[in-house]
Amino acid sequence: MIYDRLNFRQFARRLAGVALLGVASLSLAQDYDLVLSGGRIVDPASGLDAVANLAIKSGKVAAVSVDPLAGKTTVDVSGLVVSPGFIDLHSHAITPRGQYFQAYDGVTTALELEAGVFPVAAITQLFEDGATINYGASVSHLAARQQIMGNVSQAHPLLAASAVDPKQASNRQAAFVSTASETQIAQIAQKLSDGLTAGGLGIGLLLDYLSVAVDDRELAMVFAVAATHRAPVIAHIRRGLPGDEAGLSELIRQAENSGASLHICHLNASAMQAVDRFLILIAQARARGVDVTTEAYPYNAGSTQIGAAVFGRDWQRIFAIDYDDVEWAETGERLTKSRFEVLRANEPDGLVIHHYGREDWTRKTMVAPGVMVASDAMPIDDSTTGIHPRGMGTFSRFIHQYVDESAEGSLDLSEAITKVSAAPARRLAAFAPVFAHKGHLAVGADADITVFDPALIRDQATYKMPLNESVGVRFLLVNGEFVITDGVIVSDAKPGKQLLNVP
Ligand SMILES: [Zn+2]
Repeated sequence: MIYDRLNFRQFARRLAGVALLGVASLSLAQDYDLVLSGGRIVDPASGLDAVANLAIKSGKVAAVSVDPLAGKTTVDVSGLVVSPGFIDLHSHAITPRGQYFQAYDGVTTALELEAGVFPVAAITQLFEDGATINYGASVSHLAARQQIMGNVSQAHPLLAASAVDPKQASNRQAAFVSTASETQIAQIAQKLSDGLTAGGLGIGLLLDYLSVAVDDRELAMVFAVAATHRAPVIAHIRRGLPGDEAGLSELIRQAENSGASLHICHLNASAMQAVDRFLILIAQARARGVDVTTEAYPYNAGSTQIGAAVFGRDWQRIFAIDYDDVEWAETGERLTKSRFEVLRANEPDGLVIHHYGREDWTRKTMVAPGVMVASDAMPIDDSTTGIHPRGMGTFSRFIHQYVDESAEGSLDLSEAITKVSAAPARRLAAFAPVFAHKGHLAVGADADITVFDPALIRDQATYKMPLNESVGVRFLLVNGEFVITDGVIVSDAKPGKQLLNVP
């Protein structure tokens, strides 16, 4: 449990700081559109952690004060935590149903940065009827590569709804196995560059899925394009045998040589028992001036498509598991050798959940300073019945399981909110100015706000019953508009905006 006892000395010290931060305006009644009154405002960016009032006007934070504030509407949030909205750097669930679950999990911005989309504008088609929360994407190296290597158009390579025409399936395979010529590398570079110019939030690099296809020349090109645009590369590193650090070192070297920024996806899933070593390698690179960051999700199982390249390799040794550790996500069925082979041949886009992690590896990663929280939410649409629960529960599970303000070795709320909001926003703000207004609650910030009950917040999604909303998020505001009130989603609220890196 969390929040049973406050650290009062720390609390008092932060409260003393409120007078400096507060911009109380006692002048006129109803100056503001909305006031959240009496909540514990935790804003790691300013160091504020105190019971205070927060006012919103025209979709922005307009005042934070211990003095009373008057709004057209006032909501009493005493006993609740008022946090900058959670920012998910890694969500493949960029659909209305995916956003529904992520909203219940406290997420106000969900970004598809690992796989990306190409062309970048294609993401807007997924939200023609409006978006519940903010969304955006990187430029997909894989989608660009599929266009060049196989003449296959698939803007979102992981989304089932964008599955390619069966006639193109073998062309698509070429993108996963064929090495690019110099001419093709130059053509892919042009597409990546076009995507960044169009506002893509970095370059998404699914390197492990392309392990046999992408060589040093192509990698150097990806990092060179990123460096030219001062954009990050967001990567799923190559996987070796358990604990093999070669895949991490390879990309740190590329970042160092090119000067590009690098974000490593799901560190716990990639590092396994070598998580301490991976964290040291990242810290050493940062000390040398390499801009490298990482993230993790609080689950011990992974999930991917059964057709993924890794399942064509020596996967039992790579994950140190066997067939019955692999679960068919749609039904929960544990697989046998023959069933695995049938499904891989006939339904390569079908999702599996492979149980290969350990809680001590995950915990070390989640609580390590600097590691951000990101869900890796899997693609979901209206027909999805089985799926990894991380898309529903990552953020509330993280707070429920790893925050305990009375225990040594656990996180306090400010540290946790840094990981779910302040740090992800800062990661992107250096490159995409739109994020300078997110991840904090200073006056002028976008009013993306997660208000949760620290004693009740928790995930409800399990491997067997994944389609359960998290509980404990009492109010969720996106661009100043309520998406959740009194713990229930406002189904017709669509204040989410597309986030682009545009001047
Ligand atoms: Zn991944």
